[in-house]
Amino acid sequence: MKATTKIFGCIADPINHVKAPSLFTSEFVRRNIDAIMIPINTSKENLKDVIAGLRKIRNFCGLTVTIPHKIDIIKYCDKVELEANQTGAVNWVKFNNNMLIGNNFDGLGFIAGLKKSNIVLSNKSICIFGAGGSGMAISFALLKYNIKELKIVNRDKVKAEKLVKRLQNFFPAARIKIEELNDPDISDSDIIINATSIGLKGNEGIPFKLIKTKKNCIIADIIMDPEETLLIKEAKRLKKQVHLGKYMLENQIDLVGKYFQLW
Ligand code: NDP
Repeated sequence: MKATTKIFGCIADPINHVKAPSLFTSEFVRRNIDAIMIPINTSKENLKDVIAGLRKIRNFCGLTVTIPHKIDIIKYCDKVELEANQTGAVNWVKFNNNMLIGNNFDGLGFIAGLKKSNIVLSNKSICIFGAGGSGMAISFALLKYNIKELKIVNRDKVKAEKLVKRLQNFFPAARIKIEELNDPDISDSDIIINATSIGLKGNEGIPFKLIKTKKNCIIADIIMDPEETLLIKEAKRLKKQVHLGKYMLENQIDLVGKYFQLW
């Protein structure tokens, strides 16, 4: 580290699970970029003061934002980019001459990961489990790719309905359906995505019955810890193509680096 080192932060509460500081700092080292990412553990109550303080640090360049701050942080941004506006959530903030610009790379990172694995989206029937922050970001990103149909399954049905309304506002011609949690029709889905917290350490389980999926259905998870969830293990056992959660974050690195003009 030098006196000129650019500082990035990763803001979360709790902080234990975050992987971004080590991932990004390693990437800065690998690319010989004079920057570091530090973990910043702060509560919802203190978010406003922490952001006000960070604004005053001249060599503070940006922030990746995770649970529980992705929605609250919008009110401290001076401007938001399209993806943050659509989803109502921010997972990156650029600090630019005292101007805070909010963006959301969750959905774009997920799609970039699929593309890298040569998974085609055009004309595909896709089902997503989860209508939380990530489920929403991924749903918005999917609808930009001319998919045939999007099915959404969520424990809290009202939340799913709100998401569909929001999506339909931006994509009025899109085919979007809500499926019941207890018996969703996933038999015609080409790609099924788990964007719930089910599978995370401490919330083990499988969000749907793999036996009900069609033979060549691709199973994607966004959980990173463990790297292979029970869902992924079971899908592999059934010889299905799988897509791991880590690709969503790994592929954000490239997008974020370009956004911050680091590479
Ligand atoms: P949110 O809290 O916004 O949403 C959580 C989602 O999981 C909701 O849809 C919620 O349903 C559902 N859920 C949680 N527990 C259960 C359960 N027991 N049964 C059924 N549904 C459940 O979180 P995020 O969307 O931000 O993140 C979801 C997961 O994705 C996180 O666990 C995180 O680990 C992972 N993640 C991975 C990223 C990556 O880069 N790979 C990036 C961001 C997140 P309900 O609405 O009914 O509460």
